[in-house]
Amino acid sequence: MAKVKQLCGRSEVKKSDCWDLSSLFESDDAWEAAFTKWEKQIGGYARFQGTLAADVKNLAACLKFDEDLDRHGERLGTYAFLKTAEDSANSTYQRMQGRFINAVSRAGQEASFIRPEILAIPQAKIKTYLADRRIAPYRLLLERLLRYRSHTLSRKEEKLLAMQTEMAQTAGHSFHQLNDADLRFGTIRNERGEAVELSHATFSTMLHCPKRSVRKTAFYQYYQQFAAHENTLAAMLGGSIQRDIYYARARNHASSLSAALLPDQVPESVYANLIASVRRHLPALHRYYDVRRRKMRLKDIHMYDTYVPILSGLQTRRAWDEAVRLVLAALEPLGGDYLATLEKGLGGGWCDRYENRGKQSGAFSAGSYDGWPYILMNYQPDVLDHVFTLAHEAGHSMHSHYSAARQPYTYYNYVIFVAEVASTLNEELLAKHLMAQAKSDEERAFLINRQIDACRGTIFRQTMFAEFEKTAHEMAEQNEPLTVEAF
Ligand SMILES: [Zn+2]
Repeated sequence: MAKVKQLCGRSEVKKSDCWDLSSLFESDDAWEAAFTKWEKQIGGYARFQGTLAADVKNLAACLKFDEDLDRHGERLGTYAFLKTAEDSANSTYQRMQGRFINAVSRAGQEASFIRPEILAIPQAKIKTYLADRRIAPYRLLLERLLRYRSHTLSRKEEKLLAMQTEMAQTAGHSFHQLNDADLRFGTIRNERGEAVELSHATFSTMLHCPKRSVRKTAFYQYYQQFAAHENTLAAMLGGSIQRDIYYARARNHASSLSAALLPDQVPESVYANLIASVRRHLPALHRYYDVRRRKMRLKDIHMYDTYVPILSGLQTRRAWDEAVRLVLAALEPLGGDYLATLEKGLGGGWCDRYENRGKQSGAFSAGSYDGWPYILMNYQPDVLDHVFTLAHEAGHSMHSHYSAARQPYTYYNYVIFVAEVASTLNEELLAKHLMAQAKSDEERAFLINRQIDACRGTIFRQTMFAEFEKTAHEMAEQNEPLTVEAF
C-alpha cells in the first residue's frame, strides 16, 4: 500500500517556512501585556462625549485619541488574526481573536457618539471647523464623514448598532470554521497512484492533473462535502445577506447595493455596466471552452476539465526560492527600491509559505500600519498558478508598504476598488516576463492558455460572483426566502 501523504500540524512546520510576526509582537505574552494596556484606554472616549460641538480643540483631541486607539488596535487585531489563520482549530488563538473582537465591539460602543455628534454640528460651524489649522490632519476624514449625514442615526440608535458587531459576524465566522477546520475531504490517489489528503490546496493541484479520472474523482469527492452541508451553507449565506440588508435599511440606504457602493463612491451604473459587458462577451468564453474541448480531444467538457493546462507536456515544478527569484526578475520594471524591499521581505519573514492542517485556505496579504505587510500562501511547487499568486499578493503587500510609508495612519488604507490594480499588474508583469523567456511555441501556447484562464478567473468569474451577490440580495430584499433551491 502506498503511504498516505498527510498534512502536518502547525507545530511541525519549519520555522524558516513560517512568517515572523515579531514586527507586531515578540510573543503571545507581549501581545497580552499590550492588549491589557490598550483595553484599559477604551474608557477614555467618555471624556469627549458632549464636547465636540463646543470647541474645535475638543474635536481635534477626540479624533487624535480615536486614531491612536485604532492604530494600536489594528496591530493587536492583526496579530490575533494571523495567528488564527495559521491554525483555525487552535483554541488559544481563537480565544485571543475572540477577546480582541469583543474589545473592538466595546470600543465601537464607547465611540459611537462621535459620528452623530459631529453630524449634528450646524453646517456653518462645521465650515469654520474645517478651516481650522488644528483640524487639518482630519479634514478629509471629516469631509468623508459628512457624506453619511443622511445615513447616520441618533446616538442611542448608533449605540444599539455598535452593540451588534460580534453577533453580526456569526454567519462569516461559522463559514470559516466549517470550511477551514471541520470539513474533511478524505484521501485520494494522484496520477502516480499515491494516496494524498484532499484539501482546499491539494484540490487545486488535482484539478491541474492531466489524468481525467483523477480530476473527476477529486471534483466529486471535494464538492460532495459541500453538498452534504448544503442547507447549513445556505443558512449561513442567507444570514450574511440578511445582515447586509438589515444595516442598509437601518441606515436609510435605498438598497444593500447602494450601501455597499457608497464608501468607495462607485456609481451603481458602473456595477451594472460591468455585469452587462461580461454577459455580452460570454460567447467568446464559450468559444474558448470549445477550443479547449477539441484540443483536449474530449467528447464533452466538464467543469473539472477547465483548469488543467491544454498542453500537458510542460513541466512547471518550481521550488519556493526559485519562485521568489522568478517573481523578483519579473517585477524589475517597478524599480530598485521596490525589488530590494520585496526581496528582503520575502526572505525575512513576511511570508507563511506552505499548507498545514487547519491553516486558512487560499492566499492573502494582511498587515498593520506599524508592522510588516504579511502574506499567507499555501504554496505548491507543481502549480505555476501559485507563482502568479505570490506575485499577486506581493503586489498587495508592496502597495500596503508604500501606503504606510507615505500616508498618515488615518489615510493609509485603500479601498477594494483600487486594491486589485497593484496585484493584477504584477501578474501581468510575470506573464510578460515568462513569455519573453519562453523557448518554444509550445511554451508560449502554454502561457497564452494560462493568460486566457486568468481572464476567465479575474474578469468572467468575479463578475459572475458579483451578479450572484446582486441577484441574491435583491431576492432577499423582495422577501423571497433564501433556500438551497433559491440559491
Ligand atoms: Zn487580490
